[in-house]
Amino acid sequence: MRIAVLKFGGTSVANETKRNHAVQRIREALEEGRRVVVVVSAMGRKPEPYATDTLLSLVQEVDPELPPREKDLLMACGEIISSVVMTASLRRAGIEATSLTGWQAGIVTTEQFGEARIQRVEVGRIRQELEQDRVAVIAGFQGASENGEIATLGRGGSDTTAVAVGAALGAEVVDIFTDVKGVYTVDPRLVSDARILTYVSYQEVCQLAQEGAKVIHPRAVEIAMKNHQSVRVRSTELPDKGTLICAPHHAGDDYCCDRLITGIAHMAPITQIKVNTSQWPDPALTGQTVFQALAEAEISVDFINVHPAAVIFTVPDEITAKATRVLEELGLCPEVRQGCAKVAVVGINMTGVPGVMAQIVVALNREKVPILQSADSYTTIWCLIPIKDLTVALNALHRQFCLT
Ligand code: ADP
Ligand code: MG
Repeated sequence: MRIAVLKFGGTSVANETKRNHAVQRIREALEEGRRVVVVVSAMGRKPEPYATDTLLSLVQEVDPELPPREKDLLMACGEIISSVVMTASLRRAGIEATSLTGWQAGIVTTEQFGEARIQRVEVGRIRQELEQDRVAVIAGFQGASENGEIATLGRGGSDTTAVAVGAALGAEVVDIFTDVKGVYTVDPRLVSDARILTYVSYQEVCQLAQEGAKVIHPRAVEIAMKNHQSVRVRSTELPDKGTLICAPHHAGDDYCCDRLITGIAHMAPITQIKVNTSQWPDPALTGQTVFQALAEAEISVDFINVHPAAVIFTVPDEITAKATRVLEELGLCPEVRQGCAKVAVVGINMTGVPGVMAQIVVALNREKVPILQSADSYTTIWCLIPIKDLTVALNALHRQFCLT
């Protein structure tokens, strides 16, 4: 049986017009002789009524401390509603379809509510639907544990559902349909001359995704890489081929396997927090004390620099208040800088090539963008900048590395 898995993101199923484009893409896959599995996200974005954040807002003020298990049950409703609405759109177009919740589709997860991992997919029920020539429309972003506890997979988790289902079924292809034409060298909403990447290796896109290019979830790429599952990122509205994510030896002749820089990703808004070690009775112990206290409060920190004079790190803006409270309880007066963005220049062939950081500094200096912090690894150079300079910085770096 030739199988295709087609995943449609939130904006792709937000209204009737968008769903009709999705139905068209599903029809094309059927006409190519494939059985089709569809994975959907919740419809639209807040304030649309069935979007994930709208559902969450039903309880946020009632009980700000509502346990993650309860929130997961609430959030899972968004994708279930979406799967039934998509099934209705397909039936109206004369295509037989059955909607399935994550657990009906056999998605078994861990019990890390809000960030669950898929342990396996029991594909029996999906196969039954396909054998009877019905499209299986699966609610993305969710599954259930062995104990029957419903859990969600974290933001962007429907991508993970699609790739895990595709790998378990031995699908010919997994198509991630979204509101842009594919994976670009940089977020095309912020840089108008961003270039679409026709081919991108698992390793390259994984790095971009981990650094914030939210067009595909990093865990989805990891599962694809492990199972040698080809994935395409495509536009819901157009029949274009989009970007093919695969191993380099499966890419076409125009794949440039030795490109120095693949692209630029960013994360925002984040907060930089600085603690001066002189505030602590034993300066040498400041870092240990600070990081232990933050870990106990389950706050994960990033971009860590430990100097004799200060300990510096970042947290997402939404947990700034909690992190500050933990530090103040230790008797410290942290310097807090909200509204920062972390920009990552990514290239798996960067190892040992001199001058990449120099070019970054030149590009940002030219635009008078201050670098608040920086770090590097074999494949990535990160800079922390004020968020107000984000668009200017991305455009400057994109030009500097000739990615257009
Ligand atoms: P969906 O709801 O379909 O899952 P997302 O909003 O999660 O869509 O992802 C698509 C968005 O990812 C695009 O609208 C784009 O702004 C953003 N994006 C960020 N970086 C990139 C990139 N390098 N290539 C393409 N899109 C990107
Ligand atoms: Mg997404």
